[in-house]
Amino acid sequence: MSNLLENLNEMLLMGPGPSTVSPTIYEALHRPTLGHLDPRFIEIMDTIKIQLQTILNTKNDLTVPMSGTGSAGMETCFVNLIESGDNVLVLINGVFGIRMQDVATRLGANVDSLEFDWGTPVIPEAVKLHLAKKKYDLVAVVHAETSTGVANPIASIGELVKENGALFLVDAVTSVGGMPVEMDNWGIDALYSGTQKCLSCPPGLSPVSFSPKAVEKLTNRKSKVPNWYLDLSLIANYWSGSTRVYHHTAPINMLYGLYQALFDVIEEGVENVHSRHKKYHEYLVDGLEKLGLEMLVNKPYRLPMLNAVKIPEGINDGDVRATLLNDYNIEIGGGLGVFAGKVWRIGLMGHSAYEKNIDKLLGAIKNQL
Ligand SMILES: *Cc1c(COP(=O)(O)O)cnc(C)c1O
Repeated sequence: MSNLLENLNEMLLMGPGPSTVSPTIYEALHRPTLGHLDPRFIEIMDTIKIQLQTILNTKNDLTVPMSGTGSAGMETCFVNLIESGDNVLVLINGVFGIRMQDVATRLGANVDSLEFDWGTPVIPEAVKLHLAKKKYDLVAVVHAETSTGVANPIASIGELVKENGALFLVDAVTSVGGMPVEMDNWGIDALYSGTQKCLSCPPGLSPVSFSPKAVEKLTNRKSKVPNWYLDLSLIANYWSGSTRVYHHTAPINMLYGLYQALFDVIEEGVENVHSRHKKYHEYLVDGLEKLGLEMLVNKPYRLPMLNAVKIPEGINDGDVRATLLNDYNIEIGGGLGVFAGKVWRIGLMGHSAYEKNIDKLLGAIKNQL
C-alpha cells in the first residue's frame, strides 16, 4: 500500500492560514513526548504562560493555551463568560464576527449585533451611540478580520466598553505575532488566539487569557460552565499551583511547537517581528500595484498579515489559484461571502512573511495575468 504522506511537497502557504511552518518548529514537534505531569513538562508549561503574557502584553494569571484551534478559543471565552439570558453585543464586519454571534446565541444569550460593511472597519462613534442605549454583560469584536483584511480599532472600542461596564472580548487569532496586541492597555478582559496564523505553528492550540474581571465573572457564575472540556475553572488547576490536577491529557508535542514559536518571536524581538510584517506587507502591496492590481481595503485599515486584492475583470479565480497550487506550490486564499470570486486573500503570516516568498508569488501571478 502506498503511503500518502511520502510524496508531499513543501508548500508555500500564503493564504489566510495555516501559514508556512518554520524549520525550528518542525524540529520542536518531534522532540520526545513526555508525560503530562512530568516536572520537566510542567516547567515548559510555566514558561509558555510567561511567553504568552509577554507577547500579549498582559499580567493576567489565567493565560493558557487551550487544546484545539482558534475556534476552540472562541468557544472557550463565550462558554466560560456567558450565562443564559446575558446581554451580549457582537460587532460584525466579516465572517469571524458572524461566528461569534452564532456561538453566543447557542448559549442562550440575548445577542445584539452592530454590523459594518465588509472590507471597512468597525466605527467607534457608532458603537458609542449604541452602547449609550443599553447595558451589556459582554461586548465582542475581532481584532484582525481575516475574511476581509481589515484591522479594527480595539483601543478605542475598549474605552467605550469600559464606560458601559461590560466585559470586553477580543478575537486576536490573526493579529497575535503579526501586529501589536496590548491586552491590558486596551482594556481587554478576554482574548483568544491561534497557533496557525502569525505564530507559524501547525493548527491545534488556542492561547486564551482572562483578566481579573473576567475571572470574577467565571467564579461567580450561577450555573456550571456548560462545556466540560473547555471549563477554565477546571483547566486552571492543571496549569497552575504546586500540585497539578489532571483534566485532559495535554497535547504535549503541539505545546513544544507553541513553546518554540513563542521562543523564536521573543528571540527575534516582538517589535522586530511586527515591523517585519509591516515592511513586507508594504513590499507586497507595492509589487501588486505594479502589476496593475488594486487592494480591497483602504490604506489606513489594512492588515499587514492578510492582504485582500481585487481580482481583475476577465481573470478566473479558480484557475489562477489552482495553477499557483499545482505548478508553483503556492497556496493563497479566495474571497468569502460577498467577496467570493472577487478577491484573493494573500497571507504574510509569521514564517511566510519574507521577501523571497513574495517575489516568488508576484512572479507566479505576473505569469498568469
Ligand atoms: C482563523 C481564524 C479563526 C478560527 O481559527 P481556526 O484555527 O480555524 O479554528 C477565528 N478568528 C479569526 C479572526 C481567524 O482568522
